[in-house]
Amino acid sequence: MAASKKLIAGNWKMNMLAADGIALARAIAAQGDIPTCDLLVCPPATILRAVAEAAGGSSVAVGGQDCHEAESGAFTGDVSAAMVRDAGASHVILGHSERRHGLGESDARVCAKAVAAHAAGLTAIVCIGETEAERDAGKTLDVLSGQLAGSLPDAGVDGATTVIAYEPVWAIGTGRTPTLDEVAVAHGHIRATLAVAMGDTAADIGLLYGGSMKPGNAADLLAVPDVDGGLIGGASLDAESFLAIAAAAG
Ligand code: PEP
Repeated sequence: MAASKKLIAGNWKMNMLAADGIALARAIAAQGDIPTCDLLVCPPATILRAVAEAAGGSSVAVGGQDCHEAESGAFTGDVSAAMVRDAGASHVILGHSERRHGLGESDARVCAKAVAAHAAGLTAIVCIGETEAERDAGKTLDVLSGQLAGSLPDAGVDGATTVIAYEPVWAIGTGRTPTLDEVAVAHGHIRATLAVAMGDTAADIGLLYGGSMKPGNAADLLAVPDVDGGLIGGASLDAESFLAIAAAAG
């Protein structure tokens, strides 16, 4: 395992206006000092600073959901890694399937964003995962290898700068999950692939599982070897269910 504490990260996606986000962050922060895990919430960019302030002074960290690879410039609607950092984030999610498949984001683009995130002092949470068609074709491990090779920078990847989130696309928001054995095989493959690329450093890199993690299945998923935490979408929008997942990390 990469770290003694699991990382339980909430991806709020395009949900929450300021008042609700602040209330959720406060509710999590009020209960969030859990010895067995680190907590991270990733609100939309519009409320990043407000949520960071609401969580300030607690052990709950805050992350962005994306950043542009350029330092600044004519990129209407985008935010740079430095802006995400400046708003109070320590982490940024990159290459989520909703961006890879919904917006055509390539491995090369994810890699460029990870370089920018590292340069800004952000920990990059790089998401990878197979589609259902790829899984049915028996290509899951090849897809994961390819995404790792294409999405991770050649330098600067270590346990402090980078986290990998394995999120089977077909499991996101569907209520379906891989079997525990399938999760173990995928995470073992990711760890082994990283080890080939970077040697002992691979052991320090946190590997999150994401895809329909809920209070009812979290303890089993988080106990799988090489699962160092979870990236949670739907169940992170409610303090009680998010904290129940965190409690299951023990
Ligand atoms: C996600 O979008 O990263 C995710 C894991 O979503 P959900 O938990 O809702 O499947």
